[in-house]
Amino acid sequence: MAVSSLSAQKTKNLRPDLIVFIVVDQLRAQESSQLSIAKRSVNFSQTFHNHFCSETAPGHATLLSGRLPARHGIIANSWHEMPFMSLQNAGHDKSVQVLGGEGEAASARQFVGDHLSSHWRSQKTGGRFITLSWKDRAAVMLGGPAADIALWAGSTGFVTSSFYNDSQKIKWLEDFNFKYPFSQYAGKSWPAAEKKALHKIPDSSEKWNKILAYSPFADELTLKLALEITNAYQLGKSNRTDLLAISLSSTDYIGHKFSYNSPEMRHQLKLLNHRIVAFEAALRSRLPGKKISFVLTADHGGTKTPQVAEAMQEKPAIIKETEFRKYFAQKMKPSHPYFDYALLFRSPHFYLHYEAIGDAHFSRKEILSDMQKFARENDRIFATLSVDQKLKIVRSNKFQKKDSLISDSELWELAKNCHFPERSPQLLVIPAPYVFLQYEKGVSIAGHGSPFNDDRHVPLFFWGDGIRPANKQSIVHTTRIAATLAEMAGFRYAPADGDVLPLDLN
Ligand SMILES: [Zn+2]
Repeated sequence: MAVSSLSAQKTKNLRPDLIVFIVVDQLRAQESSQLSIAKRSVNFSQTFHNHFCSETAPGHATLLSGRLPARHGIIANSWHEMPFMSLQNAGHDKSVQVLGGEGEAASARQFVGDHLSSHWRSQKTGGRFITLSWKDRAAVMLGGPAADIALWAGSTGFVTSSFYNDSQKIKWLEDFNFKYPFSQYAGKSWPAAEKKALHKIPDSSEKWNKILAYSPFADELTLKLALEITNAYQLGKSNRTDLLAISLSSTDYIGHKFSYNSPEMRHQLKLLNHRIVAFEAALRSRLPGKKISFVLTADHGGTKTPQVAEAMQEKPAIIKETEFRKYFAQKMKPSHPYFDYALLFRSPHFYLHYEAIGDAHFSRKEILSDMQKFARENDRIFATLSVDQKLKIVRSNKFQKKDSLISDSELWELAKNCHFPERSPQLLVIPAPYVFLQYEKGVSIAGHGSPFNDDRHVPLFFWGDGIRPANKQSIVHTTRIAATLAEMAGFRYAPADGDVLPLDLN
């Protein structure tokens, strides 16, 4: 029943005019069953990211490349890069110019190797490849090296960068920003709880993109822009298959700030459902008679920290992200007085500063093993490991027998799939599952980034023309999505780390 077994003729007839690929930033598989599209989809209910860098940039980079972070190099939202150990943001790029308004200059320059976008346009059947999101890193990683254009929220409207072929043809975008400036939401409010209480958007702001991100309005604007793009580019109207990839960021910001189970999140998930249904209806009315297929998934899940803590008979712990650094500094100082110079910290992981270590004449392995020894005694740490120095997993004393959370072999596999030598930390520190690490000045109270199922188990729905609803309960990995989209568009995408998913096509 695999798509790949269909005859060429049948595939041709089924080929969609437009594929809409929706990524909900931070959507747990469990909560996604509330979406009404679940009933009319091929639902791969056991879909997992097969790596443990469960953050936005790696998640998005993996989804449309079909390749693991160990190969495409996007191992985190930011990392310390050898040889100078400078902190590199996955999407920011000072060498390109931001266009369409003010905002962050971004591109996919840090992405390494094959991506679906670089193959799409060179195929006879591949049309436009366009991506957008509130977040720059989400848009550029979905777009890869060869998207026609990628768009994200600037300070007062949506922007792109000179990295993209079509970045000079953005009159339509300037018109859109003029018509729908972010400031139009000044003074608007949205429900804070089930009744009455409201969150109010301030009357003025220097940072509209930050303010709106933590509200459902970011999604509203992103989907408005998506409809505008289908007009501007006449998507779905050529004889090729166009791909429009939309990443919706509100769920992630709301999840971080209010956590799952909050009234804000319940409200957001309801809105998300309405918006997806309305977006599909609007698109269909604009493209009568055209074949449109939809796919929805997530870049990562999210941990329900209080519930996990309760299940483990623990108290949820919200601690400052620098706590682990302080802990190791205090423990290591007596035997490694140079420690402060030798280690760089990108929460919750550590990088060795080789030159400082060389000067001190201590072996890297010795430092890391000592850290692993001290990590054992810390109840807020689950385990440590070093793929780089082949230092196997050391579980902290508290988690010696907690194989049920994750096995050592699975953990090692997930860590390896995320290991890109020039960018990866030397010591991976995995916080205990009831622990949330908060930025120094952050507003977040919950998050993701762990190797546990909560953060890796994501929804995967295919629906629309030619797709027969079905429940698929075998375990699949997100690395199979890119090859499947290529197959739907009528070509084979070989570089992926996963093969085509079995869809039931009419
Ligand atoms: Zn994300």
